[in-house]
Amino acid sequence: MKFTDLNLSEDIQSAVVAAGFEQPSPIQELTIPLALEGKDVIGQAQTGTGKTAAFGLPTLDKIHTEENTIQALVIAPTRELAVQSQEELFRFGRDKGVKVRSVYGGSSIEKQIKALRSGAHIVVGTPGRLLDLIKRKALKLNNIETLILDEADEMLNMGFLEDIEAIISRVPEERQTLLFSATMPDAIKRIGVQFMKDPEHVKIKAKELTNVNVDQYFIRVKEQEKFDTMTRLMDVDQPELSIVFGRTKRRVDELTRGLKLRGFRAEGIHGDLDQNKRLRIIRDFKNGQIDILVATDVAARGLDISGVTHVYNYDIPQDPESYVHRIGRTGRAGQSGQSITFVSPNEMGYLGIIENLTKKRMKGLKPPTAQEAFQSKKKVALKKIERDFADEAIHANFDKFKDDAVKLAQEFTPEELALYILSLTVQDPETMPEVEIAREKPLPFKPSGGGFGGKGGKGGRGNRGRDNNRRGGYRGDRNRDDRDGGRRDFKRKSKNNSRDFENRGNKRPHRASSEKKNGFVIRNKGDK
Ligand code: ADP
Ligand code: MG
Repeated sequence: MKFTDLNLSEDIQSAVVAAGFEQPSPIQELTIPLALEGKDVIGQAQTGTGKTAAFGLPTLDKIHTEENTIQALVIAPTRELAVQSQEELFRFGRDKGVKVRSVYGGSSIEKQIKALRSGAHIVVGTPGRLLDLIKRKALKLNNIETLILDEADEMLNMGFLEDIEAIISRVPEERQTLLFSATMPDAIKRIGVQFMKDPEHVKIKAKELTNVNVDQYFIRVKEQEKFDTMTRLMDVDQPELSIVFGRTKRRVDELTRGLKLRGFRAEGIHGDLDQNKRLRIIRDFKNGQIDILVATDVAARGLDISGVTHVYNYDIPQDPESYVHRIGRTGRAGQSGQSITFVSPNEMGYLGIIENLTKKRMKGLKPPTAQEAFQSKKKVALKKIERDFADEAIHANFDKFKDDAVKLAQEFTPEELALYILSLTVQDPETMPEVEIAREKPLPFKPSGGGFGGKGGKGGRGNRGRDNNRRGGYRGDRNRDDRDGGRRDFKRKSKNNSRDFENRGNKRPHRASSEKKNGFVIRNKGDK
């Protein structure tokens, strides 16, 4: 199917083409026609499948730009997601002249009120701020024709149910309501029943995950050795841009501190951070100011970040869908990626559960030794020296030291000077700062081989024998040297900005008990 088959108006279509979208994603293909017909729609599809455009395009299509009123309201869980949606809507509505504003907490409300006054056709906002604006009468709802709940499950997880209900009750009843979510817990179905008119429920089954372009590894390691193992691995792998997932907020804080202590450019995000800070960190990560983003599942969810080469699961996720979602942060847009999951001996059973969902085995990886990490770091340093010497700009700086350098050269041998430089540049494993990461309760023991309890009939795992790979298998390219050494020290290659949606992962907890129909039409792709 092509976008031209969708009956979208000319100016929207041209924007879609300009964005480089070639064909609609499954959720778009199924929901856009329904939304264009004016139906209420519940759209369920995993993260990264293009839900924004799924509601965005038909909504933009309906906007009357000649009327200076707010005609559509999008409720989104976080500031980041609100901004992301606003940007996407703006991009597609620009040709048509649609004004899209975003509003969210943690930022000057006066400025947002001003922006709204200057004109808005679509407003995207977080629940709390929307309510504030409504109460201040700065946000007029009486002309709203389309109401959108985006990432509805996430909003519920964040405890926004009451706020959302309060907002919905103020929007004119004569309206179209669209609800998009990765999972469909009962509370969301209830919203559907209460606030929507005969909603059509479109559900896109989670994609087979086998086409995910990610090499998946695991390392069996004791809890106390995890951190050292991870930083050694980072020294060896020299990831260009990586995300480390931790199970809890405290974990994220501790890991971030530890990584910084060991010289990595890392920052952490989690729900307790104020929105401004989170947004700034994500921006820095996208710009390459930060190499490692440490995050909880919730904080990293839904974020569209390209160019991530490595995902480290410091803690194995309890829920296999989170795993898929996590590793979906890398290996995107046709690039390859790697994921490394650290598993304590007690948690080995969870590997099988995850593999059962991904239908792909993780390869066992031997933890690198301190010596190997040291060797890698040396190599990186040597490369850096070589490159720096090739760099004219750096030579320009040399002049200032000329006299001192001549003196030093008389006093010491070249070898002594080189030794000194290297000892300064390469962190010695012996003197590496100790990092203590507080023990986190391990996941409850799961015997390996246990099937995944969520969905029946997905099995096929049962008595599969243990994998020879389980314990060993050193990755062949471990010390491969042809990679872009010294990534941490040199300017990063320009990041690939191309968009993708296919390779992105899945969303998180609560496997929707999707088989229960609860009065909705459930349409799977292919049922059509
Ligand atoms: P979701 O809300 O389902 O998590 P998004 O709407 O954020 O997903 O889309 C993920 C990425 O895919 C975005 O960068 C978006 O621009 C891109 N995208 C969406 N639809 C298409 C399409 N039909 N073709 C190519 N890229 C798309
Ligand atoms: Mg989304």
